[in-house]
Amino acid sequence: MDSDIVGQLGLGRAELFIGGRWVPAGGGETLTLVNPSDGSELARIARGTAADIDRAVAAARAASEGTWGALTAAERGRILLRIARLVADRVDDLARLEALDVGKPLAQARADALALVRYLEFYAGAADKLHGETIPYQRGYTVLTLREPHGVTGHIIPWNYPMQILGRSVVGALAAGNATVLKPAEEACLTALAFARIAEEAELPAGALNLVTGLGEEAGAALAAHPGINHLSFTGSGATGALVQAAAARNAVPVVLELGGKSPQVVFADADLDAALPFLVNAGIQNAGQTCSAASRILVQRPVYDAVLGRMAERYRALRVGPALGGYDVGPVVSARQREIVADYLEVGRGDGLTAAATGTIVPQAPNGGFYVQPTLFADVPPEHRLAQEEIFGPVQVVIPFSDEAEAIAIANGTRYGLVAGVWTRDGGRQLRLARALKSGQVFVNNYGAGGGVELPFGGVKASGHGREKGFDALYAFTAVKTVAILHG
Ligand code: NAD
Repeated sequence: MDSDIVGQLGLGRAELFIGGRWVPAGGGETLTLVNPSDGSELARIARGTAADIDRAVAAARAASEGTWGALTAAERGRILLRIARLVADRVDDLARLEALDVGKPLAQARADALALVRYLEFYAGAADKLHGETIPYQRGYTVLTLREPHGVTGHIIPWNYPMQILGRSVVGALAAGNATVLKPAEEACLTALAFARIAEEAELPAGALNLVTGLGEEAGAALAAHPGINHLSFTGSGATGALVQAAAARNAVPVVLELGGKSPQVVFADADLDAALPFLVNAGIQNAGQTCSAASRILVQRPVYDAVLGRMAERYRALRVGPALGGYDVGPVVSARQREIVADYLEVGRGDGLTAAATGTIVPQAPNGGFYVQPTLFADVPPEHRLAQEEIFGPVQVVIPFSDEAEAIAIANGTRYGLVAGVWTRDGGRQLRLARALKSGQVFVNNYGAGGGVELPFGGVKASGHGREKGFDALYAFTAVKTVAILHG
């Protein structure tokens, strides 16, 4: 049943997409994708090697200097719109595929598929609105800037939101006129493969999108170190981000790094608690907490601390954890390894005497082979404790009390990360002070995430990375500015 959809979508052949053709990996080897909901084999994918990355980069270069590079911006936009329509027609299939592959509840996977449609629509429309400037200069000169694509862009993406991250990374690069090489994660890449099939059907010129599945330390490392790419966008862990940046630096290749987070939501006593409550828990347990922008720290002002903690605990006790297609609140985590990492953190918390204020329930229907963890809410956690400092990437949140605005800012900024922050208060002055004081790539006031808008620039400061994706900022990053100065007297 599960593998049916893989076969129906033509994804069962373990092939790479290079230069507009489906080909086996050069080494002929394959890897297994595991269904996190029950531990069974979901599909086999090709184990791409450094030689496959060479072929993919060469195909992208040929496209960049050939058919794809010769298109006008409006023509590129039209092709992206065709892909958008095909993706929109297949939202249900793509959602099911993503749910099976990542383990996320179907409703969340559906939202991800719709987000991919939005990325395609947004960047299709933006392609021909990206332009340079004329600059007033000395007498006798006309100076203008051209915004040109880099040429070949590399994209290394993780397993937690394959469709969304492909959308904000690859689609933006294509809109700006680059030819792309995508290396999705070895844990979950079926929707990336399905996307390549759709792009093919939409007649995206051969070589504009190349997809090489495989291991990070093989295909990923080869892409990051490749002298033939002109730009690299990486989304993943900090440790891998550092390796990738160092490899790209040897070729002077610019890198956008989208890394992890330990994002806070700060709840002041004057906040509309009814409005805040759903966001406090949902933004922590969504995708089983495997979200870079997960709100894993909840800071609450003392006068409302007990009330907020009590209501969060109530919500936790109602959480049901089960298979991705079962309609539960929380699915499994992606892999046995990820489950172990989260279990270790839970043990550290309990071993250090932290109070587990509430837990969710793994339903009895959850298959034994699945990678389930019990969502856990820890109360009164000291801000310097490991659970309040390190990215867990599981359905675990810590609640921390604070007294006043200054303390809230100090705790919120007191980790190595700076990706997203939420502030809940009715005080207008405080809203603006916090928005400025928080060291974070995005700040949300009286909401968290703003519905994930594709229009909104996204990225980190500090250890959360640098560079921006989403919105027009991503298009600027996917282009290089050329200055043309004409002396005409
Ligand atoms: P990871 O760094 O292990 O893997 C990410 C990607 O890098 C995968 O495609 C993997 O194959 C590849 N990779 C692994 N080793 C490599 C190497 N040596 N050279 C080149 N590529 C290599 O990350 P993960 O554990 O799979 O993903 C979770 C992390 O991603 C978390 O830290 C999370 O916060 C982060 N993340 C960040 C964002 C964001 O936008 N900031 C979004 C999603 C996830």
